Amino acid sequence: MTKEEETYPYQRIYERDNFKCRYCGWDGLKNFESWFTANFNIDHIRPQRLRRNDDDSNLVLACRACNLYKGQVDCNSFEEALNLVNRKRAEAEKWYRKHVLKLDS
Ligand SMILES: [Zn+2]
Repeated sequence: MTKEEETYPYQRIYERDNFKCRYCGWDGLKNFESWFTANFNIDHIRPQRLRRNDDDSNLVLACRACNLYKGQVDCNSFEEALNLVNRKRAEAEKWYRKHVLKLDS
């Protein structure tokens, strides 16, 4: 699919990534609730502000949470971005366990 054939913005990336978050695997095809909760975004591995790069290789489908954790950090590869998201997710889980579940560890 080319940009010109798309019926909505970045349709080619949604379809390439099979409507799943590339970072955490959240499945937008499961049902509408899953789709709605994911609130998918197109993440730029290397943010646009640093170097305008709208090549497909710089784009991944990301759920809202992963997109926020990735943020505007400049990454050189998908693997680097994935490591960043996983690290921030682990920190968030630690915080959750401590402050929400009130567990010691
Ligand atoms: Zn995700």
